[in-house]
Amino acid sequence: MRTFIVNCGSSSIKFKLYDMADESVLASGQVERVGSTAAVLHYRSAGGVKVTSEVVAADHQAAMRHVFGQLVDPVTGVLAGLGEITGVGHRVVHAGERYSDSVLIDDEVVRVIEDHFPLSPLHNPPNLAGIRATLEAMPDTPQVAVFDTAFLATLPRRAWMYATPMEWYEKHRVRKYGFHGTSHRYITLRTAKLLGKRPDEVNLITCHLGNGCSMTAVADGAAVDHSMGMTPLAGLVMGTRSGDIDPAIVFHMMNVGGLTAAEVDRELNKNSGLLGVSGVTNDLRDRLAACDGGNERAELALEIFRYRIIHYIGAYHAILPSVDAIVFSGGIGENCRRTRAAVCEGVASLGVRLDAAANDSAVGGFEGPITTGDSRIPVWVTPTDEELMIARDTKALVDGNR
Ligand code: ADP
Repeated sequence: MRTFIVNCGSSSIKFKLYDMADESVLASGQVERVGSTAAVLHYRSAGGVKVTSEVVAADHQAAMRHVFGQLVDPVTGVLAGLGEITGVGHRVVHAGERYSDSVLIDDEVVRVIEDHFPLSPLHNPPNLAGIRATLEAMPDTPQVAVFDTAFLATLPRRAWMYATPMEWYEKHRVRKYGFHGTSHRYITLRTAKLLGKRPDEVNLITCHLGNGCSMTAVADGAAVDHSMGMTPLAGLVMGTRSGDIDPAIVFHMMNVGGLTAAEVDRELNKNSGLLGVSGVTNDLRDRLAACDGGNERAELALEIFRYRIIHYIGAYHAILPSVDAIVFSGGIGENCRRTRAAVCEGVASLGVRLDAAANDSAVGGFEGPITTGDSRIPVWVTPTDEELMIARDTKALVDGNR
């Protein structure tokens, strides 16, 4: 069974083609600058073929045609025809309260995705454009939507309800939804397996630390709290996003700082976080280099970043019945020894004991614990794989539909 995975952003398409017999990746790549006459297609196949070519892609449909052209190309492709693809899985960001699982896409699902445009204006429209593009090319192939919000649908009301006027929730759907759910679900299932536990008996604190950062408290395999909010702006400090702030700062910056609402929105999303504080860059590697070069603002940015993670670990430790493991994942979680070491040191009061040698060697795909055998709470590195999670859901739904 060939399963094709699509993740559409406003100006990009990421794709992967799996052979689900052994979950191997047959081909993968992305199209950048979709919507321009100078879009770029990057493609690589399991056979070692690498292609980078400039393409004209006025929209997602046009870009997708180039991707399909590549997949079935007689020389560089991996398929005899698109008919070999038995299912297509799409990453879709927002399903609000509507879906707590992945679903086969039909007209109703398309309506729900559209209905959530106002809650996810940057993501749901391109996600739907991707669905339309693959439907155009493969109208008879089952398509599956895998939602970022789905894994967080189990949060109890006390965790997702804000203490704002009830009308805001009832009329305007103001509540915590949470994001990165597919990643947190993968990390949960994988870590449970590695710990020798059933998925529905594992208690974890999962930390997805990439460009966007979020944490989830998992009790008996289900999410019970999460750091992002109604939007992905809340919670941890991120590359360019502030994470939690006093909401009154928004009015202060409008009334006293003279910014418009749109400007405050942009500043909090694009010019805050590690970039805003360090003034250097939103990339953690560059910031570490800046720290080593004696840049105090870069050092301060990292201090705030780590402190917020420690803060959330404390909060989630308090609400969970027990913690089987704290898990690091995402580009930073999987690779940054210094962040992990500082966070583990920060939660030493919980009985966490870092194994410095294990932590130092835990990079580039390492999977396993980085704490000593006597650590009261083990800390793990579990590389995430959202695409594989989407591929598995797609296969399961397509198989079940036969
Ligand atoms: P995304 O959230 O876009 O999927 P990633 O999960 O790939 O992003 O994470 C990107 C982040 O990971 C960047 O901040 C990058 O600096 C950081 N990162 C990647 N490798 C390292 C490393 N070796 N040391 C520190 N940070 C790293």
